Amino acid sequence: MQEQQDTARGIVIVGAGQAGARAAEAARSAGYAGRITLIGAEAHLPYERPQLSKEMLLDVEAPLQMVRDAEGWAALNIDVVTGARIVSGDIRKSVVVAEDGRLFFYDKLLIATGTAARRLPALEAGPLPVLTLRTIEDALALRAHLRPGLRLAVVGGGVIGLEAAAAATKMGATVTVIEAAATLLSRALPPVVSDFLRARHEQAGVVFRLGQPPISATAEGVVLASGEVVPADLILVGIGVEPELDLARSLGLEIDSGIKVDGHGRTSVHNVFAAGDVVSQWCAWHGRAMRIETWANAQNQAAAAARSMVGELTAYQDAPWFWTNQYELNIQVVGNAVGGEVVVRGTPAGGRFSVANLVAGEVVGAVTVNMPKDMASLRRLVAARRSLAADELKDPGFDLRRAAAVR
Ligand code: NAD
Repeated sequence: MQEQQDTARGIVIVGAGQAGARAAEAARSAGYAGRITLIGAEAHLPYERPQLSKEMLLDVEAPLQMVRDAEGWAALNIDVVTGARIVSGDIRKSVVVAEDGRLFFYDKLLIATGTAARRLPALEAGPLPVLTLRTIEDALALRAHLRPGLRLAVVGGGVIGLEAAAAATKMGATVTVIEAAATLLSRALPPVVSDFLRARHEQAGVVFRLGQPPISATAEGVVLASGEVVPADLILVGIGVEPELDLARSLGLEIDSGIKVDGHGRTSVHNVFAAGDVVSQWCAWHGRAMRIETWANAQNQAAAAARSMVGELTAYQDAPWFWTNQYELNIQVVGNAVGGEVVVRGTPAGGRFSVANLVAGEVVGAVTVNMPKDMASLRRLVAARRSLAADELKDPGFDLRRAAAVR
């Protein structure tokens, strides 16, 4: 094994996705002057993932959005090592080890290994091509298939499945979405939004098979639990993700649904931090520890962890927030929008409305559909868990901005 970097340890960040990249930048901008090494398994410099299920599927010419280019990383004096998969480590020696044997010694380590798309071996055993969508290569592979007349079976009615269904339909494909649950995006959306979204997809020609997990694939298509065969030439599986925990396990970190961290991104081991999709953190809005699989979390929790790592103890306390674009719809979700008293502002039939979720009278979550301005106010109300009456919120004359401005 090669021993390298023993003399210049500094900060080592494993995982060069959004979280790893933002952590590296934040450590530097917080004034850390030592060595920063950002190590990623993919062949690319860190890139933006939101485009993969949106612009990249729709536009062959869409330029790839990178977090920053090679000059940008050099300007920050951050060493980005691509194509190196870190597989294990040793906390007593403060070292992590790549698959090819390279050693990276650290003073402080941040793990941002993210997640991998969950797969369905029972479908992969069949004769049809089965894709997932997580990386640039995945997006290019899917895009290469999209053409008028293609019969695409999308397994999973979550963000990936629905964004891909919208894009594929626009490209002329015939799409069936097969979802195990009874409603779409059931983790994130209350039924009023979920039903609205389903109707918009149906208007575009998408067919749904809800409450029916797929069993297998034949040359004709996807076989459902009911015995029905959904005709397909191609299958896209978007059924959620699994955290990449090999390194965390090898280091002996405490793990539940992800690597356990406190509000500063600290793991159970001294000098080892973690950030992004791979971490399990307390979420006050859901009232439990959970993984928060959003771009905003990868961005901001990672930056807070990095600042804490370099001595500027920073608590991450944002309410979870994400957006999805499907057709002409921009849907944004903050906090926990499911399971309380759901108050609708505006009319879904008009295509623009928002929804607030009240628990014990507090606004704990909200969704906007083509109402991005409302979201700015709702984010503040959710962050503060403001107590508001359902009748007030329902009233179209109620001034959300003014309510949000009150401290
Ligand atoms: P998801 O959790 O949003 O949705 C997965 C869906 O698959 C759920 O509705 C679930 O009920 C269903 N499902 C699970 N097992 C199934 C089975 N065997 N058969 C049929 N349905 C099944 O996950 P995703 O859509 O795969 O997204 C993956 C990741 O990408 C997430 O971490 C997500 O946050 C991220 N992402 C985010 C955005 C965004 O913020 N706009 C967009 C795309 C992806």
